Amino acid sequence: MTKRRIAPQDFASLYSQYNANLAFVDCGRKCAPLNGGQPVCCSTENAIPVVDKAEYKLLKSRTDLWFDYKPNDAVSRRIVDELNDHACAVECKGAAFCERDNRTIACRSFPFYPYLDKAGKFIGLTYYWDFEDRCWIISNMQVVERKFVEEMVAAFERIFKLDPEEYDTMKSHSANMRRVFSRKKKIIPVIHRDGGYFKIKPGDKGKLTACTPDDFKKFGPYKSEAAYIKAVKAAGGKLEPAPKKGYLAA
Ligand code: SF4
Ligand code: SF4
Repeated sequence: MTKRRIAPQDFASLYSQYNANLAFVDCGRKCAPLNGGQPVCCSTENAIPVVDKAEYKLLKSRTDLWFDYKPNDAVSRRIVDELNDHACAVECKGAAFCERDNRTIACRSFPFYPYLDKAGKFIGLTYYWDFEDRCWIISNMQVVERKFVEEMVAAFERIFKLDPEEYDTMKSHSANMRRVFSRKKKIIPVIHRDGGYFKIKPGDKGKLTACTPDDFKKFGPYKSEAAYIKAVKAAGGKLEPAPKKGYLAA
């Protein structure tokens, strides 16, 4: 008998439980002027949303917002080719058409993923480091809402129970981050599931040290207001309010 996997109705239930705003600032207004007017995480040139096939089935039964992603270069082809049998790459119509209730788990979580320690314990949230130079939130983690953290942790606790492969993927991603950050002598910032901010210093074997968001580095154009203004000008963007990120516009 085939073992039961996570099903479309599980995602329906996850969507109703996991709905909090990541922050009460419209972070899309910060990153969009540097990205042709579109929030970085809502354009497939930057981030290709990957969903479980069961999640995609649910979405297709609820909306026409999502369609299959078609890779258009060697890098995106490789990303799609490397997906496991349960996953698929998708694309939405864009931020102007966002539907709050039909955002994927990936949309709701970005730029964060669940951080698991060496023993596999789910400690809290850290971020997808490839986006350090593009996602404003990564340089401003003090704005992340407690309710969001609680809902994301609860959602992933359920996902891990229903889908052990997802747990393995996040465990291996966390281990990879420890390797990469240790090599680069960078701290890993963690928003703890029970509250508070922590850092993992290079060479500290994964030990958590309590800190404040002021201890976290700021990156690229988000290093300072002057750097930001300069970068927006160089990108030909406008400093006035950019299009709202979908989930805050809804
Ligand atoms: S989460 Fe990051 S990339 Fe997405 S809209 Fe906010 S600042 Fe931009
Ligand atoms: S948040 Fe909305 S606009 Fe952005 S990728 Fe998700 S569904 Fe599309």
